[in-house]
Amino acid sequence: MPKVKSSLRRRKVLRPRSIGGIKPHSTEDVYRILTDYYGIPKVARRMDPTSELIWTILSQHTSDSNAEKAFAALSDRYETWMEIMKAPSDQLATVIRSGGLAQQKAPRIQTALSLIYQRTEGFDISFLSTWSLESAKSWLREIPGVGPKTAGVVLSFSLNQPAMAVDTHIYRVSKRLGLIGPKVSADEAHDILEKIVNPDKVLNFHIYLITHGRRICKALRPLCHTCPLSARCPSQKKLISENDTRIPIESLNYKPL
Ligand code: SF4
Repeated sequence: MPKVKSSLRRRKVLRPRSIGGIKPHSTEDVYRILTDYYGIPKVARRMDPTSELIWTILSQHTSDSNAEKAFAALSDRYETWMEIMKAPSDQLATVIRSGGLAQQKAPRIQTALSLIYQRTEGFDISFLSTWSLESAKSWLREIPGVGPKTAGVVLSFSLNQPAMAVDTHIYRVSKRLGLIGPKVSADEAHDILEKIVNPDKVLNFHIYLITHGRRICKALRPLCHTCPLSARCPSQKKLISENDTRIPIESLNYKPL
């Protein structure tokens, strides 16, 4: 019988029980500690789900402010989704150029709108709020250019679904805290975190991890010496700088993805 390579036999660790002898915080502990530290976030529903989808496509690979400018230009130039769907692609690209990658985003937006129109004979996708999370996620993910993060943003912020949108901050903080294994991909992290966070707390959890990643668990030189999660963070020994006197920026508020 042929030998199976040990690397093939080894299963990917989705959630480590212990890293370097440290048992990571549970998601419940992380939630509780960050609630005490940051307080309860104020989350307002942002837009109708179709607008949220188009906004999120515009925000791919660019800053929020660029996406906002592009979305404002789109709203100024066109009155209906139908007009946007039928506009010449080059014209649409010119209108949204402040959002970057306009030549890619314009056809992506038009394909998304066409698909929605074909499936619903309109542009209202709010019915997805009544579907199961898995079905609603699959429906959105069938739209070309809609990945797990874009689907997660639309589902959680506009459709009141317990979806986890994982951005670069959430991915980094989750890995450092040992909530997900070191080899878990960003795409896989969406499903894993969704399963281990209480559905009622997913949106706040998302906000806490983004805020924590921006303020304290920064990509370079995280502020482990002042981090409320450091006691059971498996990464802090490696990342802490003993004489660090930096303090978190108090004024940085949560900004959406
Ligand atoms: S202790 Fe350091 S690495 Fe761990 S979560 Fe806090 S800032 Fe991030």
